[in-house]
Amino acid sequence: MTSTTSTPAVSAGPAAPTPGTTPLRPLAPGAARITGGWWADRQRANRENAIPTGRERLESAGNLTNLRIAAGTAPEGATVTGPIFMDSDVYKWLEAAAWEFGREPSDQLLGWIRELTAEVAAAQAEDGYLDSVVQEQDGSLGPRGRYSDLPWSHEMYCAGHLFQAAVAVSRATGERGLLDVAVRLADHLDTTFGDGDGQRRDVDGHPVVEMGLVELFRETGERRYLELASWMVEARGTGIIEGHGKEPTYFSDRVRVREATTVEGHAVRAVYLTAGAADVATETGDAELLAALGRQFDHMLATKTYVTGGLGSRWDMEAFGDPYELPSDRAYAETCAAIGGIQWAWRMLLATGEVKYADVAERMLHNGFPAGVSLSGDEYFYVNPLQFRDGSHANENRSPAHGRRGWFDCACCPPNIMRTWSSLDGYLATSGSLDGAGGGEGVQLHLYAPSTVSAQVGGARVRLEVETDYPREGSVRVRVAEVDGEAGEWTLSLRVPGWARGASLTVAGEQHDAPAGAYTSTTRTWSAGDVVELDLPLEVRLSRADRRVDDARGSVALERGPLVYALEQADQPEGVVVDDVVVDTGAPVTEERTDALGGVVLLHLRGRSGGHEAGSATWLPADGAQPAAGQDVELTAVPYAVWANRGVGPMRVWVPTS
Ligand SMILES: [Zn+2]
Repeated sequence: MTSTTSTPAVSAGPAAPTPGTTPLRPLAPGAARITGGWWADRQRANRENAIPTGRERLESAGNLTNLRIAAGTAPEGATVTGPIFMDSDVYKWLEAAAWEFGREPSDQLLGWIRELTAEVAAAQAEDGYLDSVVQEQDGSLGPRGRYSDLPWSHEMYCAGHLFQAAVAVSRATGERGLLDVAVRLADHLDTTFGDGDGQRRDVDGHPVVEMGLVELFRETGERRYLELASWMVEARGTGIIEGHGKEPTYFSDRVRVREATTVEGHAVRAVYLTAGAADVATETGDAELLAALGRQFDHMLATKTYVTGGLGSRWDMEAFGDPYELPSDRAYAETCAAIGGIQWAWRMLLATGEVKYADVAERMLHNGFPAGVSLSGDEYFYVNPLQFRDGSHANENRSPAHGRRGWFDCACCPPNIMRTWSSLDGYLATSGSLDGAGGGEGVQLHLYAPSTVSAQVGGARVRLEVETDYPREGSVRVRVAEVDGEAGEWTLSLRVPGWARGASLTVAGEQHDAPAGAYTSTTRTWSAGDVVELDLPLEVRLSRADRRVDDARGSVALERGPLVYALEQADQPEGVVVDDVVVDTGAPVTEERTDALGGVVLLHLRGRSGGHEAGSATWLPADGAQPAAGQDVELTAVPYAVWANRGVGPMRVWVPTS
């Protein structure tokens, strides 16, 4: 599919396909800007707390010392510390700082970016190789040789994050120092790996380099990087990673990407791979690969995705479970997996224009992803269960029973969260056409927040202003603030989420039905001052799971707009334990707006508590006496995204109905 207008091959953060390769195009850097509301508060916490604190953590955790050892500038006696992928935390932090600089320039951010760029550049070997832990052959992690243990060494994983960071720094600041480092390393990889004479046929155990290489291709125009990414996608699933202590599934190496029908294995690896494959499919015009990815996405959504958008149900191998294996209390749902899911969904949205991908991204962005970080922005969950029991015990570093933590030994999640907040503006809107026939050129709004959106439409630049208190309220008012140039007729499309039955759109005083699960589009010659108003009904919804999800059978989840709710112990009446409640689905649910927890809408509902005698057996005769009904109580639910901001206590998303 081709588009008739071109925009720069850049974006405010997410992937930026080459113009003409996708029906929808990301906007230019800074063209979409969240100006207020819920997400703006989260972004402020990210900028003011998380990013500065993260800079300190990279120092205190030893990431920067590792780079200095490789550079030969560390104090005598300094030793390499941390897991082998320590460099990747530096790169993700750099990416976060870069997008944040792009949102609002600051001397401090630029100073940090330059400092760390210099540290990274100094660590790079003469021939372009870069991985500080591997370079320190005598380090505490033991001697290693370059690329000698690719299933576990994460060398290309670190490279992929470097490439993404370098592209971000280049796009956001215009400075190319980190890009030069990235190009030298990419050239080294390109020389070393592939099917050519003297090259090694091998891939990294942890994908992400595929996304990084394609973005580097987009930034530099160097097609070899795209070809290398494509080769890596095709090589996977052929048993290329063998004999390394885990079955091929773990590494997404059991089935070729273009033949797979589902996602499996380590969840973050799986969705990083599919996101990278989507980039490859987009740039090479590979419709077969894209269709295969669509089937995998559908299967993941239907059978392996939590109602929160969380991905990966098993602690064991941090993996996707079997279909419908979605336990609430033992949910793994790594924060990074939700982020990878967002990245994949975004690429599929650009490539297809299908609304379901934006729906999923929104579910993740309002639930599974933000639950991974405190309202203060600087404390993190690695693991995001949907139920937390009374008496839970923290038995390892990442146990949710610790509450959110300031950092982890394996700190993949914190800087991943930072870069997602700082690039969030880029996911709001696109330009292009939802109509495969080539008509309907215009602007599409996918996510709602108080914001401004500028886009090139035909020969004109248009600017939209979005006023809303979404997700607290369902009214979204879009004003055409400026049309600079001759745009003629163009189409303004607003996403109506799949849950928004009964939505309406008002254009020029006329109200129209806006079917749920579709874009509602209006084509006209727009003028400055024109207004459209989308009204999304936010009635509380009681959702049930497919009955094959045993853990949620006989239970409901409360949803309001894009938010999934949870019962948290802190809000319940004295004596009520969240572990032991049932909800009365026939009683009305009332809403209460509060300034607490960052400003949320609480839900109050009727239920019953107790009824089980202390010390009674867990197992009872099915035909024997039934438990007492318990006492009527008023239960209160909060958005899942804000749970555990008042200490960690019992919590549940799925609530039994009887
Ligand atoms: Zn993580």
